[in-house]
Amino acid sequence: MLRLLLPLVGGLLVASHAGADDAKKKVVLIGIDGCRYDAIEYSQAKYLKELARDGAVSAQCDVLGERKTGADTSTGPGWSSVLTGVWADKHRVFDNTFKKHNIGDYPTFLARYTDARPNAKVAAFVTWAQFRDHVFGRTAGCEYLVDGDKFGYELADRVVGDAAARSLANTDLDAAFVYFGNTDSAGHGYGFHPKSPKYTNAIEAVDQYVGRVLKAVRSRQNYAREDWLVIVCTDHGGKGRGHSLGEKEPEIRTGFLILHGPSVAKGAITGKTFNVDVAVTALEHLGVPVKAEWKLDGKVVGLKR
Ligand SMILES: [Zn+2]
Repeated sequence: MLRLLLPLVGGLLVASHAGADDAKKKVVLIGIDGCRYDAIEYSQAKYLKELARDGAVSAQCDVLGERKTGADTSTGPGWSSVLTGVWADKHRVFDNTFKKHNIGDYPTFLARYTDARPNAKVAAFVTWAQFRDHVFGRTAGCEYLVDGDKFGYELADRVVGDAAARSLANTDLDAAFVYFGNTDSAGHGYGFHPKSPKYTNAIEAVDQYVGRVLKAVRSRQNYAREDWLVIVCTDHGGKGRGHSLGEKEPEIRTGFLILHGPSVAKGAITGKTFNVDVAVTALEHLGVPVKAEWKLDGKVVGLKR
C-alpha cells in the first residue's frame, strides 16, 4: 500500500493517518433503524450525505439474502444479520421474539473481535431491550442506556448520541455499535417515505447525532495515528406504515451501506451488497482473520485492497 510520509518530526519518520498500515484500526458502526436511503437523499441530512459523498456507498443492500431463511423483514433478524455476518438460518432470529436464537454460536463482530484481542475495548450503545437480552447478552461492552420502547426513541436517540460521543471522544474504544431507533418509530407513525415530513425530520435528527459522533471521533487525542472505519446501515426499509412481510417489497427489503474512512475505496460499490457484509468488513478492517469454521455469509465490501 502506498504510504504518505510526513517530514521528519523529532527525528522520526511519522506516517500520516491516511490509510497508513501501522495506524490503529478502529470501527464505529452506526445503525439507523428502518431508514430508507431515498429518504436520506431527499432529506437535509448533512452529515450522512457528507459520509456518502466522501465514502463508499451501496444503495442496493439486501437485508434478507439470496436463500430462504424464514426471516421476517423486521428489526430482530435485521440487526442480528448485520452484527453477526450470517443469515437467519444460522443465527435463528426470525422475528422480534428471539425465541431459540443461536447467537451463541454466531456471535457479533464485537464479540469475535474481543475473543481475538482480549485487550480490545468495545461498546454497543443500545436502547432496545432485545439487544441487551439476546444479541449482546453478557458479552463485553453492552451499554443499555434507556428503554426505548418505554420512553420513546426520540429521547433514547438523544441519550445514545450523548453517550456515544462522550465515549468516542474520551476513551480508548476500538470498536462500537451506535443504535438509533426513532426513524423506525416515525415510519410506523407517519409513513416510511421520502415525502413523509415527520419521517425525514427523524432522519435529520439522527443526522445531528451522527455529526456529533463524527466530531467526537475526529477530536480524539490519537486521531492522527488511528484509522477509523465508519459504517452506516439499516435493518430494513419500510412501505406505508410498516415493514413486516416485505420479502417482495423493494422499499422494505432494500437497505443501504455507507462506508467512510482512510481505508475506504471511494465511490459507488458495484454489485449487490448484503447486510451480512457489515460484520465481515468490520472484522477485516480490525485485522481479525475470518475463519472458515465460523461459516460467515458476508464478504468484504468498500475497502481498498
Ligand atoms: Zn427495525
